Amino acid sequence: MPKAKQRELDLTEFPSGTVTEYTTLVCLACIFDIFTKQLNLAPRTAFSEIKRHTPTIEELTSRAATRPYFDSEEKHPHCPYCGSAKRWLARFDTYCIEGGKTTDAARRALLRKLPKAEDQFVLQEKKSDSGAVFFEWLDTLGRSLDLNDEAWLIEASRMYLERREPKTNWDEVFDELRAVRRSSRLSEGWERDGARLFLAPGIYSEALLIQYLVSRSHAHGGLTLEGRLTLVELVRRLRYSGYLEQLGITERDPGEVFEKMVNHLAATHEWSSARVSRSVSTGSGSDRVIAGSKKSTKKTAKKASKARKKKLTPPEPEVISTEPVKLHYLIDRRDFLEKAKSVYASYAG
Ligand SMILES: [Zn+2]
Repeated sequence: MPKAKQRELDLTEFPSGTVTEYTTLVCLACIFDIFTKQLNLAPRTAFSEIKRHTPTIEELTSRAATRPYFDSEEKHPHCPYCGSAKRWLARFDTYCIEGGKTTDAARRALLRKLPKAEDQFVLQEKKSDSGAVFFEWLDTLGRSLDLNDEAWLIEASRMYLERREPKTNWDEVFDELRAVRRSSRLSEGWERDGARLFLAPGIYSEALLIQYLVSRSHAHGGLTLEGRLTLVELVRRLRYSGYLEQLGITERDPGEVFEKMVNHLAATHEWSSARVSRSVSTGSGSDRVIAGSKKSTKKTAKKASKARKKKLTPPEPEVISTEPVKLHYLIDRRDFLEKAKSVYASYAG
């Protein structure tokens, strides 16, 4: 039976960047050990307890797992705690789906298709906010890229654009792409010309900012499509490109400007619909990047005014805010249930 194939969930209906996948291995030998030796349960009781077991979201998604959980990139992993081999090890796959307009329908459709018996899948919800979602996204982005290979700059641009404009077929746009450049012609959007992708200054600026955030190290600045930049250099470029003006950032201090830019990105998790809400018009509407719907603009503004104020030096014209985001964790327990059964059979027999 082509089991491995069937296991993969079809996530193609979700815009890229809205689902984060986590895999955690669990050692059943360690779990049985805990239940039978430490808790003194009979194997049969232990087995029925174990079958009901679902790790916490923290255990499933934490970067540093603790016994009986562990992470391994190896093809034939062993338990780091007791040395058990593959047949004792089970896998939990966890999908963290960002709730929102772009994912709600796809999530419901996916849930309808999943088997219900034996809690093969468990759904848990967690309240979060756009700031946490943004930093988690950045972190995942950083981990998925090889910063020693220059191609990461194009890959990071792509992941940023995918999040920003989820409906575009970026596979096609990035196919055989060699370079990403700032357009001197476009005032909004992007265009592909040969092997190069040209981005309007505002979008290009934001791509640089994302690259900077992913690669920055305190001493040496961050790597971007424009080379290695210190914060001062980055801010200078973004000011020159009109990006700061677009966001209504008037501060001169690079640290303050940086904080504002990051807050702007963290203020909403659906970048595609909320681009405009914060920009201060300077008379021409044409340099605005993508117009969101009026409705979402209003909503964002309303939330912003209610949101907590951050302690910053007054006067503070712009309220720093995040918006609530619901995270849906879908936990795939199938491998765990199967392995627990087969291990129990040999354990009890
Ligand atoms: Zn173990």
